[in-house]
Amino acid sequence: MAESRDGGCGCGAVRYRIEGEPVVLAICHCTECQRQSGSAFGMSLIVKQESFSITGETKVYRRIADSGNPIDCYFCPTCGVRVYHDPQKLAGTYNVKPGTLDDRSWLEPAVQVWTKSKQPWLTLSEGLAEVEGQP
Ligand SMILES: [Zn+2]
Ligand SMILES: [Zn+2]
Repeated sequence: MAESRDGGCGCGAVRYRIEGEPVVLAICHCTECQRQSGSAFGMSLIVKQESFSITGETKVYRRIADSGNPIDCYFCPTCGVRVYHDPQKLAGTYNVKPGTLDDRSWLEPAVQVWTKSKQPWLTLSEGLAEVEGQP
């Protein structure tokens, strides 16, 4: 297992490192993740805050979830790539957008959430735990 994993935005101004093992990788089919990714679903790599370090300037966009909880969404102001979220509800964790990792070959989702808004043509690997809405 890697001791640390690096990633960054599209233009290279923002770089980050995750030390140690992430908590979990989730696929999210909510409409906000679809909008944010511009694609069929978002991915959330949950990491402990103390294992995450970042360099370069980010901008933050605060979104209020349906639950009423704020989510601070950090992105590169130059290229616009969303790098990570700070979900206030899940104190002590960040949600890294794992498509920004330099090496994505080890990614293995454990759960998919918000399946009620999953694109109907999409089939993901069998055996993935499913949650209809917010876990
Ligand atoms: Zn950038
Ligand atoms: Zn989502």
